[in-house]
Amino acid sequence: MLKVVENRRDNFIDLMKEMISIRSYTCEEKEFAEMLMNRLSGLPGVDEAFIDGAGNMCAIIRGEGNGPAVMLNGHMDAVFEGNLENWAPYNPYVPEIVDGKLIGRGISDLKGGLAAHVCAFEDVAAYVARTGKKLPGDLIFLGVVQEEPAEMFGMEYFFDVTMKEKDIKCDLVYLCEPSSLDLAIAQRGKVELVVKTYGKCAHSSAPEEGINALEHMIPVLQRIFAHEGIDLQNDAIGRTPITVTNCIVKPGGTLSCIPDECEISIDRRYAPAQKLEDLVKEFEVMFEEIKKDIPDFKATVEPRVYEETSWTGYTNAVKKYHPAWSTPADNEFVVATIKALEAVGQTPKTKQWKFGTDGGTTCAIHGIPTIGYSGAMESQAHQPKEYVDVEDMVKTYEGYVSILAELYGIPAEEI
Ligand SMILES: [Zn+2]
Repeated sequence: MLKVVENRRDNFIDLMKEMISIRSYTCEEKEFAEMLMNRLSGLPGVDEAFIDGAGNMCAIIRGEGNGPAVMLNGHMDAVFEGNLENWAPYNPYVPEIVDGKLIGRGISDLKGGLAAHVCAFEDVAAYVARTGKKLPGDLIFLGVVQEEPAEMFGMEYFFDVTMKEKDIKCDLVYLCEPSSLDLAIAQRGKVELVVKTYGKCAHSSAPEEGINALEHMIPVLQRIFAHEGIDLQNDAIGRTPITVTNCIVKPGGTLSCIPDECEISIDRRYAPAQKLEDLVKEFEVMFEEIKKDIPDFKATVEPRVYEETSWTGYTNAVKKYHPAWSTPADNEFVVATIKALEAVGQTPKTKQWKFGTDGGTTCAIHGIPTIGYSGAMESQAHQPKEYVDVEDMVKTYEGYVSILAELYGIPAEEI
């Protein structure tokens, strides 16, 4: 094991525990961001540390030369713990190690990986401070707000505002979402589409005088579940399913009223070749078909818009979608990452993620090669009694040190 990881192993485990003990629901990442800020600002070798307008925490080691500007990226928010009975005998915010497993909310998704990012970043800072040598490219640590509900909120702000303000560029992104020590280099797209049908209210004792919006949703639902007019793909990135997750009628509640509005939520996954406009268009074509049978059929479709205010008071509306992305397996950085991990005895395979990540922003929108790596397991994300294997997380920490050494041309033993 690399000396620095052996020496700092307890420090790393303590940081993972501290991260569990700071509850950081979406919109409530303040204390977590401030903990990172306290830890990284003023550290010898770190040139800048700040919290941006959206509440993202960033620290930078400025390099000079022709090497890549590398970003270590992970979200600071974690989802609700759910029913506490399902956690018994543990408490989601009191970290405990049992049989080599560290248990606590958010540790798999993704605080364990984030702790590895922090410690590897600190080790490189210490190397720079100790040797006085500049890295050949910048190293950026970024803890992001509001990944869980929308994936784009914090990242959009960072890319559109903060990077310009602070003159930050980025050639390569590592995401520390759970990947079981493999490399996730692609992800399906996801969008939440809202379909509404419209009718006319009437007293339910005389339904023929109204137009029931719920009844008009039936042909839409039939076509969705029969995949009629829905282009489902099954390519290298995996299946792209569609399903309905919610249905609301309005006015509803008033029992004797024919609903004049019916809304369904559709969870649609899609392949890199498909665009949001294509997915919307499928429904517009479907509506025209239905209209042939039902002349007074009226419907709309659009992506769900998520409006939220971050802990700093910044408010933004973002579409609830993330585009599919993929980094080619023969990309030079993927090759270098595998080499670096093999150098510390790991055997990573490349694979795809099923869930959504900030890679939608970094890779799909901004075209930056993006690689996911952490020893946490995908199956643990959002689960009660969420845990990581402590040794796998120590390997993750060592893996990141080795990766950064490889990318910056530093012998890993010197870090
Ligand atoms: Zn996550």
